[in-house]
Amino acid sequence: MGFDEARKGRGLYTAEVVRAGRITPNMVRVTVGGPDMGRLPRQGFDHWFRLFLPRLDGPTDFSHIPDHFGAGSYMKYMAQTKSETRPVLRNYTVRNHRPEAGELDIDFVAHGDIGEAGPWAQQAQPGEKIVILDQGCGFDLAGDGDFYLLVGDESALPAILGILRDMPRNAEGLAIIEVPESADVQDAEGPKGVEVRWIARNDHATAAGALALKELSGFTPPDPEILTAYIAGERTLATEGRRHLVREGVGKHRITFSGYWRAD
Ligand SMILES: Cc1cc2nc3c(=O)[nH]c(=O)nc-3n(C[C@H](O)[C@H](O)[C@H](O)COP(=O)(O)OP(=O)(O)OC[C@H]3O[C@@H](n4cnc5c(N)ncnc54)[C@H](O)[C@@H]3O)c2cc1C
Repeated sequence: MGFDEARKGRGLYTAEVVRAGRITPNMVRVTVGGPDMGRLPRQGFDHWFRLFLPRLDGPTDFSHIPDHFGAGSYMKYMAQTKSETRPVLRNYTVRNHRPEAGELDIDFVAHGDIGEAGPWAQQAQPGEKIVILDQGCGFDLAGDGDFYLLVGDESALPAILGILRDMPRNAEGLAIIEVPESADVQDAEGPKGVEVRWIARNDHATAAGALALKELSGFTPPDPEILTAYIAGERTLATEGRRHLVREGVGKHRITFSGYWRAD
């Protein structure tokens, strides 16, 4: 199982910022809308996409964006476009999708003024154009009777809350979600049988993902044969978390893991 093998989406969708604002101390929600947001298939779970954003340093040329993302199409796109006006490109998750209203929410970690997407979200204005290249889901439901282990930091909060929302109501498992502050905790609409364990760093000295990794490292799967794991967030959390589970006897095919970002 893994991001490469899971069900895929494709196709380009344009939208405009409808509203934007901070929903918790370290998370900004940007709602985008337009007819294409009614057309985008609603896949739920950790549905993610490549997001093309306006540049912060000048005009942006949104032409030539490919409708699927392969090595060839990406190289062609780079050759056809000028680096000075090329949109910013990052990966994000559907937080909520309301096709009937033609709206989609994207939750951005507000990680300061370094980078492009995080800073853009903190000052996004209604009417700004964005383009979405659909990528589908990384998460795949396992067979009945599996125990789900979902682990992530704040960048994977939209993905894990989406998975919890869309899992079968009789699912069982544990979700470990690390956030910067206690006030970053959000409502989780998970099945009753899935415990949601929030961990807040509440200080700037602890590296993002470190507390979730510590919690995961203390987890011994009662039965590795029926464990389905999903680990996403800072790269060390994803790779070391997977290593721990493999050492505990969980088959690699039972672990979906993705380094969403990399701490410097
Ligand atoms: C499939 C997928 C889905 C994702 N979904 C989401 C999502 O829904 N919401 C979300 O916020 N992120 C999500 N991410 C992660 C997001 O793509 C990265 O955090 C991205 O690097 C942000 O781009 P940027 O321009 O803000 O920063 P960059 O220009 O990439 O990096 C600039 C600096 O910021 C640091 N940085 C980047 N991200 C973070 C962070 N989260 N916390 C602290 N420091 C950071 C980097 O280490 C670097 O020093 C997802 C990633 C993947 C692969």
